[in-house]
Parts: sequence; C-alpha cells; structure tokens
Amino acid sequence: MPHVGGDLMWKTFEQPANVKEKHERVLGAAMFYAKVGDAAMVYTGDYNMTADRHLGAAQIDRLQLDLVITESTYATTTRDSKYVREREFLKAVHNCVASGGKVLIPAFALGRAQEICMLLDDYWERMNLNVPIYLSAGLTIQANIYYKVFINWTSQKVKSTSTTRNAFDFKNVRSFDRSMINASGPCVLFATPGMLTGGFSLEVFKQWAPCEQNLIALPGYCVAGTVGRKLMSAKTPAVINVDKNTQIDVRCQIHRLSFSAHTDDKGIMDLVRFLSPKHVILVHGEKTNMAKLKEKIESDLGILCFYPANNESVPIPSTLYIKADVSKSFLKSSLSPNFKFLKTISRADADERAKSSVQVYDDRVAEGALIMQKNPKFVHQNELMVSLGAENHEVLVAYCCPVCVSDELKDVAPSPGENMPPVLDKHSLVHLLYTKLSNDFQDVTIQNDGDHLQIKSFTVSPCLKEMCPHRIQVNPDCTSNAVNFCCTWSMEDEKLAWGVISIMKDLELKTG
Ligand SMILES: [Zn+2]
Repeated sequence: MPHVGGDLMWKTFEQPANVKEKHERVLGAAMFYAKVGDAAMVYTGDYNMTADRHLGAAQIDRLQLDLVITESTYATTTRDSKYVREREFLKAVHNCVASGGKVLIPAFALGRAQEICMLLDDYWERMNLNVPIYLSAGLTIQANIYYKVFINWTSQKVKSTSTTRNAFDFKNVRSFDRSMINASGPCVLFATPGMLTGGFSLEVFKQWAPCEQNLIALPGYCVAGTVGRKLMSAKTPAVINVDKNTQIDVRCQIHRLSFSAHTDDKGIMDLVRFLSPKHVILVHGEKTNMAKLKEKIESDLGILCFYPANNESVPIPSTLYIKADVSKSFLKSSLSPNFKFLKTISRADADERAKSSVQVYDDRVAEGALIMQKNPKFVHQNELMVSLGAENHEVLVAYCCPVCVSDELKDVAPSPGENMPPVLDKHSLVHLLYTKLSNDFQDVTIQNDGDHLQIKSFTVSPCLKEMCPHRIQVNPDCTSNAVNFCCTWSMEDEKLAWGVISIMKDLELKTG
C-alpha cells in the first residue's frame, strides 16, 4: 500500500518539578494508543516487561505504529534476573535482622513497596521469622485501598490466591509509630519518601545510618542530587552531606535493589522490538543515557530514534492508507508469476556427495501508477495517458541524409539547371532506395508505401526542400549528384536508424 507523508507533531512538555509526583505513578501506569486517520502511536507510562508480583507484565497488541514514545529511566542498566535480585535482597535483609540490625527501605507510596512487602511477607512465613515489618503510616492506608479496589487489574497469581487470602493483607506487616525509631531490637521499615529526599524516611536514616548493624535498602532509581543517589555510589564508612548543616557518618550497610517498576534497557528494547514502530521518542531520562539507548535502538533495531529536550518539537512522518481501485490491465500484469529458481546444495555428513535441490520462488513485482483523484486508481503504465486524458508526446529524431545518385540517372531525369541534381519523381527514388536497403536488411521488414519507406519507427522519404532544418552537411563525394532523404525515428530505434543512415551515405543510387 502506498505511504503518503503527512506530518504529525509531538511535543514533550516539562516534567513536574516535584520528583515525588513523577515516581508515584506505578500502579496507575498505562500505555496510551492514539490514532488519527491512519497515523498511530503508543505512549507508555512506567511499564515493566517482566511479570511483577502485583501487575501483569505489560500487555500490548501488535499495532502498526508510526511512533512509540517511551520513558528511558533505566536506559543503560540491564538488570539481573529477577530471581537473583530477589534472593540477594532477602539474604541481605535476613543477615541484617539476624544480627539484630534495623532495615530501612525508603519507598514511594505506590507499587514497589507493595511488591517488596509481599516478597518479605512470603519469606518471613517460609523462614518462620517473627521480626516485625513496619509500614510508615502513609504507605499502609493509601496503597492498600488502591490495591483492594483495583485487584481485578492485578496479575493472575494474585487473583487466584485472593479468594483464600488477600495478597495485600500482610500477615507479618504492621504500622509504624514515630516513637519506635529508637526502640531496641531488629525490624524492617518501609518509609516514605523514596530516594531519601526528606520527610520521615530521611529522619529515620539520620538515626539508623551511623550504626554498622543496620541496612539501608534502596529500591531502584535515585535522581541525581538526592541522598539516595549519594548512598548508591558511597563506600561505607562515608560522610554524607544531608543538607547544608547536617553531615551523617554513614556506617550502615547499603543494598541497592533493582526493583523499580520503571523499565530497563532490556525492557525498552523488548518493547520497541515487539511493537516495531517506525520511530521512537525517548523521554524521562538522563541525556547521556538516552543518547546511548538511541544509538542502540537505531543500530540493533534499525528504527529512527529521537530524545528531544523539553519543549522541543519533533516532526514525525505519518502513514496514510489509500484505498484504490485497480484497472484490469494492471491486475492482469500482476497475475503472471515470476518464478525464480534457487539451487541449494547441501552436503550430507555421512557421504561427501553433494545433494542439490531446487527451490522455486514466485517473486512478483507489479508496476503501475497510482492516480490520485476522487477515486484513486492503480493503472498499468500503458493506460496512464488515456486515464489522464492526456496526449502522448513522442520524441522523434530527424536527419536529412544526402544520397549519391549515379550519372546515368541524369540521363533519365532532367536536371532543373546547371550543376543541379537530377529531379526524379518521389516514387522512383523511394523504389530505388527500397531495392538497395532490402539487400542489406533482409531480417527486418521494410514497408514501402510509395511515398516513404518504414522500418519499425524509422521512416525515410525524399526531401525536396532547398533548405531542410534537418540537413547538416552535404556529401563531399558527390555534391552535385546528391539527393536528400529525410529520416525520422523515435528514440527506441536509435541504433537501427544510424545503421540505415550509414548505409545510405555509402550508396549510389542507379537504375537497374
Ligand atoms: Zn530534409
């Protein structure tokens, strides 16, 4: 089908300045499919291609897309397998609480905290642990309400167990109270906000970080400039500046989890490969990482990729499908098969004799022209002029060729004056030329209608004009005895024409 370009304009708008807002969308993550005419695009929110505990892996139909806009938060970090990551995390938490330490998991309200909670709750039951797991107030109430309301959206595994046990009613999880921060004994605490950008989680961090027994587990991505980000690259013990006036002597262990609901490099590549759009726009990421991902998408998948800055416009050529009629001759021209025979030689391992087989392909190409009018139509190229109601312009080449006549013809035909060629009537000249050319061109048909000769598109007739625009030179051998013949032909018979003319130049016309 023909693709006719129109332009769709997509514009990226400034992200909300509040980092927290950006990262609280996980449960509500969605992919939007938009179609205008035949132009189609998908916009993905936060998505994850591996099956999370609480949400089914991103499901999306195969669509004919002009554009996919995707986030690129984890543009260059391919995560370990989920199982390995979970095991390492559980081991770190278990070791910490077993030696009497406290575990702090800074998390945003929705999504990931619940997944990690389920993981720990399961583990606690399996290992028969009774160390308390706490959620800070905001996390418990808000998130669990959402999950109970939207349980139908969640993955099959959660659904099938929900009749016997609601996966979000955690057995070992309880609410945390501020007064418990400095209580003795091990515990696990989920506290908002994630990335330790301030608030309750930062307050707890200040208290717990100086103790070597404790553990800070950071789930996923931390924006540059946050305390969480500083911890990710820190080697303990380290002094971390929390704000202008506060320095914390961090001696606790730090575990970095890749549990974020945000997608990663592999997830993005899988989705883009699956959707196979014509263009990709990366948003929501760091510039250097996006540049790397762009390169990967373009080189590995051959898909044009952009990562515009905020408020930058990117024109994307879009698709337009045209329903067109097809003429009978076009249809006919595309009906004949175009077989290609491919000989394949395979060598059997047992004996060294090569076995060959022939594979047949029908490699059809139908060529025609699409006429864009009220009812678009495909026609065969031969029909094009008629369909357009246009006249066919043919390019003819002309040459006025002098041909020598013998002296004896002078006797037959009277000369109009001294040193003038004899004037023979047209028919005689044409007949004489016909006789000569018939000898030289035995394999082509020469038509003689009396006034002119015709070989394919090449026509020749005597030229009696004194000044012919097609006459370039006179024959130097017989200036006085030359008769001119005007020749015309169309481009496709160029070679034939010059073949005839070269013979005419060497001729001497005579009677008999
Ligand atoms: Zn002429």
